[in-house]
Amino acid sequence: MKRDIFIGGAWPYANYFLHVGHLAALLPGDILARYYRGCGDNVIYVSGSDSHGTPITERAKKENTTPEKIATYYHEEFLKSFNKLGFTYDKYSTTMSEHHNEYVKKQFLKLKENGYLFEKEVPQDYCEKCHTFLSDREIVGTCPHCGKESTGDQCEHCTTSLDSSEVLNKHCKTCGSPTVMKNNKHLYFKLPAFQDELQKLIDKNKNIWRKNAVGEAQKYIDMGLVDRAATRQLEWGVEVPVKGYEDKRIYVWFEAVLGYLSVGCEVAEANGINFDEFMSDDNKNLRTYYVHGKDNIPFHTTIFPALILGIKNNYRLPDYIISSAYVNLNNSKMSKSKGNMITANELLEIVPRDTIRFYFIMNGPETNDVSCSIEEIIQCHNKFLVGTLGNFVNRNLSFISKKFDGKITEGKIDEDIIKETEKIYQVVGEHIEKGEFRKALNSIVEYINLGNKYYDTCEPWIQVKEDIDKFNDTTYTCVYMMANIANLIAPICPDGSTKIKYILSLPEFKWEVENISGDIEIKDLELLYNRIDNKN
Ligand SMILES: [Zn+2]
Ligand SMILES: [Zn+2]
Repeated sequence: MKRDIFIGGAWPYANYFLHVGHLAALLPGDILARYYRGCGDNVIYVSGSDSHGTPITERAKKENTTPEKIATYYHEEFLKSFNKLGFTYDKYSTTMSEHHNEYVKKQFLKLKENGYLFEKEVPQDYCEKCHTFLSDREIVGTCPHCGKESTGDQCEHCTTSLDSSEVLNKHCKTCGSPTVMKNNKHLYFKLPAFQDELQKLIDKNKNIWRKNAVGEAQKYIDMGLVDRAATRQLEWGVEVPVKGYEDKRIYVWFEAVLGYLSVGCEVAEANGINFDEFMSDDNKNLRTYYVHGKDNIPFHTTIFPALILGIKNNYRLPDYIISSAYVNLNNSKMSKSKGNMITANELLEIVPRDTIRFYFIMNGPETNDVSCSIEEIIQCHNKFLVGTLGNFVNRNLSFISKKFDGKITEGKIDEDIIKETEKIYQVVGEHIEKGEFRKALNSIVEYINLGNKYYDTCEPWIQVKEDIDKFNDTTYTCVYMMANIANLIAPICPDGSTKIKYILSLPEFKWEVENISGDIEIKDLELLYNRIDNKN
């Protein structure tokens, strides 16, 4: 029976390029999507650009442009990068889309009807000259810690995060007038109402979610859940569908996570699937995956489930939380301000995308923070993709090309190898489904190593002179392994997989044992991967 698989990749914030930190955190989503599609299951794999909020608004002001222009520019850059990396989203959207805006407004009203949004008056800094309430970032004042000038949210001199109420001598950043306190009304989300259900969710999934997800979610609940402001004094974002809130927008934390559902629903509709039934908690065939970095854990393990519970649509709460740790660069933390980030595009100019995907699964931040460097990525490419995988395919096929004009004669496939092959799909599949991608890839590499060892032990270069039948059996067994390697690596290294399949005229990728038969003609043989010289 076909399974229903929902995969939500985190929404990168549209004010910078896609970098290797994003890449490492998001890649598991594409591995899952390709794998489950290969199994023949119904997959909905979605993501998009998080395009609203204060940082984009602030930047637009600084650069004398509009938030929409900035968000659109980076959204298009994200799209290009994801395409180049081979991500197979069913839809990659943006929170700027009309569909998303309408969807969010509808859910917002449902929550209000269900009694989980309430109005509260809160004193907020106001500029009487600009006639506007000011967000923390729109305030300048004196830092209470070092006495130097800071904004309302952070002091750049002593790098302390601040609350605007601590800042002294506050002024409006735009016009310089002193600020006054004035009551402002906002809508708040009753997050604490879901405390018990969220605790149950953590308990239920404590062996399924990643360890860091269970830990962070529990920590977040133990700190005490508080009502969260669901509206903001801002012009850029999803409008609040409530009278009297025309000058405010829905808070980004609220609307961005609902993007999974707004885009999921769009994809379902386009494919004639009833999304309510697909996502229903009663759908026993359903598995949901949420793929992101560890800084996003509270949003996916508590806030998003609370929103689903509050909307009361009976949707499944997250089954699998695939939350990655961080990637450091040459052992130091990557940051935009330090200027030591590698973007996906920069990396794609140095190594093929298969290598990037292979490397960040093999050495990815699956269980703890990792450090990467360009040198290590190139080393990995030369060692595994060229030395192990490429070598296995090339040594066999180039021999046949030279000696037999590219014609592979049918032989008897080794019984032990057949048994190993039938087993390996099971082992790798289980790892992938559990989100244990490194283990999955290690098992695949072991299988390729087995092929190389088999080749060395059989010594076909001697067999060819002494016993041609044995030589044909050895070669055919190796080709059988290649055909299956092409399936096994397809979710991680799609280009290598496609190349093997082309050379050997094999059918499209499916997650099942590939049984070859008859003679096979080698087509346009070339190296799977070229060695890269490390010039650094
Ligand atoms: Zn300071
Ligand atoms: Zn002002």
